[in-house]
Amino acid sequence: MKFNGFKYDRCLYCGECFANCPVVNLSIDTAIEEIMKLIRHDVENSIIFSRCTTCNVCNLYCPEDALPYELVLENFNLIAERRGLPFLARLVFPDEPHNMWSLMKHLLPEDEKNLIKKWKINLNNSHETAILAGFYTNLIPYIADTELLGNLRDHIIGYEGLFGSGGDMYKLGLLKKTYQVGLRMKYHLENIGVKKLYTMMEPEAAMLKEVYPQRFGIKFDIEIDTVDNLLLQKIKSGEIKIKKPLNMRVTLHDNCCSRYFNLKPQEISREIIKLTGNTLVEMKHSREKALCCGWAATIPTLYRKKFSIKETLFYLLYSLYVRIKEAEESGADALVTSCHACTIFLTLMAELLNSNLKILHIQELVRLASGEDYRSRINERVWDLLAIVINLVVEWIRSPSGEKYFFSKETPPFGTIEIDASENEIKRTKLVRSSIEKLRKNNLFRNQLSMILKRSLEFYGKFTNRKIEGGNLVGL
Ligand code: SF4
Ligand code: SF4
Repeated sequence: MKFNGFKYDRCLYCGECFANCPVVNLSIDTAIEEIMKLIRHDVENSIIFSRCTTCNVCNLYCPEDALPYELVLENFNLIAERRGLPFLARLVFPDEPHNMWSLMKHLLPEDEKNLIKKWKINLNNSHETAILAGFYTNLIPYIADTELLGNLRDHIIGYEGLFGSGGDMYKLGLLKKTYQVGLRMKYHLENIGVKKLYTMMEPEAAMLKEVYPQRFGIKFDIEIDTVDNLLLQKIKSGEIKIKKPLNMRVTLHDNCCSRYFNLKPQEISREIIKLTGNTLVEMKHSREKALCCGWAATIPTLYRKKFSIKETLFYLLYSLYVRIKEAEESGADALVTSCHACTIFLTLMAELLNSNLKILHIQELVRLASGEDYRSRINERVWDLLAIVINLVVEWIRSPSGEKYFFSKETPPFGTIEIDASENEIKRTKLVRSSIEKLRKNNLFRNQLSMILKRSLEFYGKFTNRKIEGGNLVGL
């Protein structure tokens, strides 16, 4: 594998990259020190290494196109190769036990189970034009099953064993694994003769169209676009009619991968928001200064000298909280995202906080405004996910000390990758889920949970190293 990563010979040590990082508030001098530390792999003392949310913004600011974001990933990769990843990261590895998909399949209603099966079977048939079901779409399949796709609805392909086109593996810095997933994607897509591919998830288009060709030399002889853009073009051409303008105040969460394609995805989403009859309002941090929803913000915590599950959970919860709070402060009725992972995790936080803010995926806006008979299921689904995470934490506590870390497996270029959950896990998760359901319907409990969570996160933000100052998360 050849990785076309950080350009050591191009770097001028100017510090522009990390001085413009939206996550930490660094002076130019500190930013210069940081780039030097990462070049020396002095990660223990690096602010960027301990806080990077893998948002890709530093690359946009480098005048030499030296790829400083890839330098961060190369440092993640060194630790992952030396020590492996904490057991908890198994959640996003479809080839490891206790992953999200292996358990969610047992909690989904029949119609969604059938969608997943159909999309997987479709990977064995030829399709000239296809839609790639996203990694996280497989946790909320109903969201992709829309009549707005016309004939393409029968050409949705994919399942979790395609690793979301390698997006999470890349953000984790697992360079060899990302490369192997790239070869796997190439095999599967070429095998079924796809010439035009629309991805449900914007980050997967970024992987296939930019990251694989530019960083790993894996080229796809396929025209690649996003479903979001497909829907936008259909609205513009009149094929999709806006029968019920939504008349909401909407704010957009710009996800990390919207920074690819010269920032075009950010404008596609904004256009859809307006064309579906909404007023766009901006959050304090938007476009290239937007903060992470929280999912990727946990990545650096996996590479601490001593992993702490508490720290990882607080990083996730606090980042989600900051995003919901900013959206509420913008006066929006709805927070819209164009990534299914962001949609899921932001909804989870909105549910925990009992917030009135609606969390919607950009494709849902079009479904609602077109007058399609559509009902979201995500508010219930995120509690399923919570039960799955609780199962994983139980497994983590029960695991012997020598198994608290794991090394990711080799990924084969073809063949099925699917892990099923054990009978015990399924039973336990269903039990947890039914207890959660009782609590979910108890208003008193929900109000108290929301109050306790808010106070704890405010306290965490104020008295720990993640306090917000001047609009930025600062310090160590
Ligand atoms: S958080 Fe974003 S801008 Fe900051 S170092 Fe990481 S990738 Fe670069
Ligand atoms: S990576 Fe680019 S922006 Fe960062 S210090 Fe080097 S030349 Fe400057």
